[in-house]
Amino acid sequence: MDYQEITCESLGPVLRICHNRPKQANAESERLLGEMDHALGWAKNDDNVRVVIIGSVGKHFSAGHDLTDPLSTRTGLNAEQAWLWESEHYMGNALRLWDFPKPTIAQVQGACIAGGFMVANMCDLVVASEDAYFSDPVAHSLGAAAVEVLVHPWVLGLRKAKELLFTGQRLTAAEAKEWGMVNHVVPRAELEQHTLALANRIAEAPPMAMRMLKRSLNRTADMMGFRTSVMAHFDTHHLSHCTDEHRAIVEAGMQASMATAKKAQGG
Ligand code: ZN
Repeated sequence: MDYQEITCESLGPVLRICHNRPKQANAESERLLGEMDHALGWAKNDDNVRVVIIGSVGKHFSAGHDLTDPLSTRTGLNAEQAWLWESEHYMGNALRLWDFPKPTIAQVQGACIAGGFMVANMCDLVVASEDAYFSDPVAHSLGAAAVEVLVHPWVLGLRKAKELLFTGQRLTAAEAKEWGMVNHVVPRAELEQHTLALANRIAEAPPMAMRMLKRSLNRTADMMGFRTSVMAHFDTHHLSHCTDEHRAIVEAGMQASMATAKKAQGG
């Protein structure tokens, strides 16, 4: 496949996949998510790949799902079509990343918002630069009950997740580390090097043992209710796509919605 919206680099045993729409703050279009899913699909079966880094080219990790994309390509979907589309492209892609059988590390700089937050938090580990910030403002900006995957309580604890979602405000890299959501915070100039060193350390382990270890850790989360609760949220998220509140916001236009998102984040 000829990738246009991601980059894919083999660095010894590490595969680094980067969002590559820097002019759009790496907003995740249908194509970008599809390319990432495709790259993960072959990396899964390539024995040379032991660890995957998900990063981004440019100033920001990702501004979230490309909100101009659905308007041009998916105008007029009814509730059932929208549910099916997001099941495959948002929920499906996210869970395939969560279920990826080898360790994954998100490498995050700048904005990591909404759908971008979701992708970063589907990774096993997160390394952030000091300028990174995280937010999910879509309750304020879109009248949506968070993004499609309610991963927030799993990576932040319920208390902080509620604050983040109720206010729509930004979480700085330092705060995210304090709450256990990111593993390391490093200066921007050291982000790639630090993340790669961590990936290389993990890649030293026998790959089958690592695979079984991740399987067991993820199964622990499943026994605690991870999969059941995120699937339940996905349906609730879709109910919030069908409300008059949401429709009114969409009809008022994406520009106004993005302004609200910026205001909610405090930036
Ligand atoms: Zn949605």
